[in-house]
Amino acid sequence: MGWLHTLWRRLFGSAQTGGDGVLWAVIECARCHERIPVRIDPRTDLQSEYREPGETGPWYTLHKEVMGNRCYTLIHLYLEFGQQRNVTAQQVSGGQLLSLGPEKPEDI
Ligand SMILES: [Zn+2]
Repeated sequence: MGWLHTLWRRLFGSAQTGGDGVLWAVIECARCHERIPVRIDPRTDLQSEYREPGETGPWYTLHKEVMGNRCYTLIHLYLEFGQQRNVTAQQVSGGQLLSLGPEKPEDI
């Protein structure tokens, strides 16, 4: 766990505060089954689709490319969000989404 914690700090810096709208996704690589935590900050990572009220479709979308440490499989994470920045759809290629929520995963 020690080295992982160090790596974690290197990847995500000191911004480890939860409860400020940050989401954590845990993705499992389809090839080597490594579990990869992904930090999502809705304030900076989301892309607005510039919807008008009443329009259908996602209000925000998120694209992230994730690579683990064990292999070079590139995993694409795609999320759709509604007007309240709630997740309305999800799609992962190259892996699968194990969990998504505000809690930072502790024991990966
Ligand atoms: Zn892998």
